[in-house]
Amino acid sequence: MEAIPLDRGDIRWVFPDADQGQPAAFRPLLAEVDARVRHLAARLGAGPDGAADEHGRETGGGLWFRRVEGIHLAGVFALVGTPALTWTLGLYVPRRCLWDITPGPPWEVHAEVVAGCDRDECRGDHSEEMDGWIHESPSDAVTGLLEAADWLLARQADGAGARVAAHRDQPNS
Ligand SMILES: [Zn+2]
Repeated sequence: MEAIPLDRGDIRWVFPDADQGQPAAFRPLLAEVDARVRHLAARLGAGPDGAADEHGRETGGGLWFRRVEGIHLAGVFALVGTPALTWTLGLYVPRRCLWDITPGPPWEVHAEVVAGCDRDECRGDHSEEMDGWIHESPSDAVTGLLEAADWLLARQADGAGARVAAHRDQPNS
């Protein structure tokens, strides 16, 4: 799996059949999403290098492309936080398996706040997630990604981090 910074990638990896001119029109929207992710990281005190996994660190912590090496189809992702509490965002083609390389439509946009939990009854984690949104057009998908980034910022503002992480502090619940 390759992680490629937003400015070194090409949105046509995500939308190979996009109309001419669309990729250029998407650039400012993706830059907005990238800015929101960095804003979220700053609010979390994570800073640009505070992303929760190596991909984020390699790519500066904003939005990045992820693709299987040698295959020119990709999704765009962001990941902020710590391994204990992770904020994620993604736009991708829902895959039946890793080697399914059918291009969209549809595209799926996903956003989630996840806390690791070592209690047995939690099966590894708890989370709040945005309902998985399926989009039939590239412009709807990119707009949806921006809305998902806003959803994450709103969750940060309304205390989702504490809510999602809370269970670990209640040993008898
Ligand atoms: Zn738990």
